[in-house]
Amino acid sequence: MVCTRFQSDGMKLLDGEMTGEEKTLYEDHIRECEDCRRELEDLGLLVEWTNQLRLKLPDDSFWEAYWDGFYRKAERGTGFILLMAGIAGLCLFAIAKAVTSPGFLTFTGITITVALAGLLVVFISVARERYHERKYDPYRKVKR
Ligand SMILES: [Zn+2]
Repeated sequence: MVCTRFQSDGMKLLDGEMTGEEKTLYEDHIRECEDCRRELEDLGLLVEWTNQLRLKLPDDSFWEAYWDGFYRKAERGTGFILLMAGIAGLCLFAIAKAVTSPGFLTFTGITITVALAGLLVVFISVARERYHERKYDPYRKVKR
């Protein structure tokens, strides 16, 4: 005959839901019952694994840092797209101007102006990004 006490009492014991007296009684039984002993060993391992998994789950600060990094990346991505769109717009403008311009010299002048303006935008953007990054870097205060 197979003992099935581990299904009810065993789980209670592992979950820490037994009173002192219940625990003592069941522990006495475990010593004499091979079924309970074997099953509890298996269940115990399972509970141990579950606890270990729970410990490995990331805590709130991990997610905060993760989302913070995500937003910063998204922000930078948006800035980059806007910058690219701006440069593309300037290029289109210059091309349109060049097409309608009467002379090559005017085209060169506009192109150089646009290129300089683009460079200026890039430098301002990079400078602002660096400043922003340093100001809000969540890892700055974390010692590693
Ligand atoms: Zn038993």
